Amino acid sequence: MYRIGQGYDVHRLVEGRELWLGGLKIEHEKGLDGHSDADVAIHALCDALLGALALGDIGKHFPDTDARYKGIDSKKLLASTMELVKTHGYRLVNADLTIMAQRPKLAPHIQEMRCILATILDVDADAVSVKATTTEHLGFEGREEGISTLAIVLIDNGQ
Ligand code: MG
Repeated sequence: MYRIGQGYDVHRLVEGRELWLGGLKIEHEKGLDGHSDADVAIHALCDALLGALALGDIGKHFPDTDARYKGIDSKKLLASTMELVKTHGYRLVNADLTIMAQRPKLAPHIQEMRCILATILDVDADAVSVKATTTEHLGFEGREEGISTLAIVLIDNGQ
């Protein structure tokens, strides 16, 4: 049996923060703001996995009011989420992410993000697609006020 899930997340770009995206630290003059490392790509992916199993959202599982998650590496949140998926008897078939960011250029980092995410998700890198697009200077992403990500996953319990 297959189940599909989608996730969406946005974080604000601010000065004085590191930019973490897809599990990777990227050199940029601004970073994403948030309670955790604010890795918007991983957050959307977690929400997609949770959505596939109708288990609520990332805020329910890892509340930003909980001091345990302050500054946490979002890769740990993804690992916990994937553990939950496995506990329910499912494995990831594939994931597809679209990161919307005017800057920085993400193309040089895509392959490394795919490898990092695939390792945590326990699949081959060819099961994890990461795409990036600008928004042609339109909207909050285009004005470089924030970065958003859309994620879709398919999971399978082998039955
Ligand atoms: Mg988030």
